[in-house]
Amino acid sequence: MHQNHRALGLAAHSTAVPSNLERGIDIAKRRPADPVTLLRPHAAARAARFFVEKFPGRPMYAVKANPSADLIQILWDNGITHFDTASIAEVRLVKSVAPQSVCCFMHPVKSEEAIAEAYFTHGVRTYSLDSMEELEKIVRATNGATDLTLCVRMRVSSEYAKLSLGSKFGVSLEESKDLLIATRQVADALGICFHVGSQTMTPDAYSAAMERVRAAIVAAAVTVDVIDVGGGFPSAYPGMTPPPLERFFETIHRAFESLPVSYSAELWAEPGRALCAEYSSVVVRVERRRGNELYINDGAYGALFDAAHIGWKYPVQLLREPASDARDMDFSFWGPTCDDLDFMQGPFPLPADTNTGDYFEIGMLGAYGQAMRTQFNGFTCHEFVVTDDEPMFSVYRDEVEQARPANVVKL
Ligand SMILES: *Cc1c(COP(=O)(O)O)cnc(C)c1O
Repeated sequence: MHQNHRALGLAAHSTAVPSNLERGIDIAKRRPADPVTLLRPHAAARAARFFVEKFPGRPMYAVKANPSADLIQILWDNGITHFDTASIAEVRLVKSVAPQSVCCFMHPVKSEEAIAEAYFTHGVRTYSLDSMEELEKIVRATNGATDLTLCVRMRVSSEYAKLSLGSKFGVSLEESKDLLIATRQVADALGICFHVGSQTMTPDAYSAAMERVRAAIVAAAVTVDVIDVGGGFPSAYPGMTPPPLERFFETIHRAFESLPVSYSAELWAEPGRALCAEYSSVVVRVERRRGNELYINDGAYGALFDAAHIGWKYPVQLLREPASDARDMDFSFWGPTCDDLDFMQGPFPLPADTNTGDYFEIGMLGAYGQAMRTQFNGFTCHEFVVTDDEPMFSVYRDEVEQARPANVVKL
């Protein structure tokens, strides 16, 4: 077990939690030919309760990060009542799992059919937009509804985020004035929303965005009822240890309190990654080794899209008993498809004697891992195993320690 702590790089990452490898080793002993997804409902529940208790407003789950029905149920059971949906399929999914939940349609470019179904069939009253065209579309599709909460999406800087969401959507400060005034005339409640980019590493991103919101409100001189700070709340990955989430919440709360908004204005957020990153991981098998490259049975068309396409680093741990005592070396991975793009550069540190037939766990794949999986080339994952051991890293470290004092190694 102790060698495995070293493999995790505990010293380097204060957010790493010592994990119990028993469940993973059990799986390895069965020698499954396909990847196995490990699910940690307790970790998703913990994240939900954390946001519900500590975020100084309303957290809604951004469904695109992981549209698993089980996960939606877990979040609902733990106090998440609102969901940020971006397609009509996501609205249908959430409503089928939690009929009492509230869906907000936060994609700024929607089809008229999707808006009409959301409004008339699913009772969706909240929509985002970033153009006059979309405003007119919403009015048309809802038959001139007068009970809408309409959130104007502003473009803000993505410079503090590991993954930009800054170019596709959002109005500039200059464009926002006319759109805010026009939207105010149609909306029952007027909101302003933005997204600072995913995996944002500093709360300053939110204070900078809030300053832009302030300027927009002042320029348009409209009454604003909702401020929606979007997603972007970080999780923990190798080489990415964010400040505590409480610091983000404090910064956002302070900025919100100082905005010129209506007395009863609400603060919303749309966390995706932070609510589900710790929910799942994947156990993979090595099918071949070539130098420092491991051919494994999951990849870019499976749960490792971000590892392949934007070089995302995920934690890895070898599942072998007895544990290897070889030193770590840096590996890259090839996924199972016949495509050269199916390559994960890493580096991923594993014991130097890792070889064909070995199993290892790739952690922190609950957000944008499972969600991106395809069936390309006939490779996918059919097996899901629920476990109550801890995820490899956690941003809910204090909560982990309170829950399992005996299981924690102090750093
Ligand atoms: C993707 C997305 C989110 C979730 O972002 P995370 O970085 O996963 O928290 C929230 N809101 C909108 C509009 C998004 O597009």
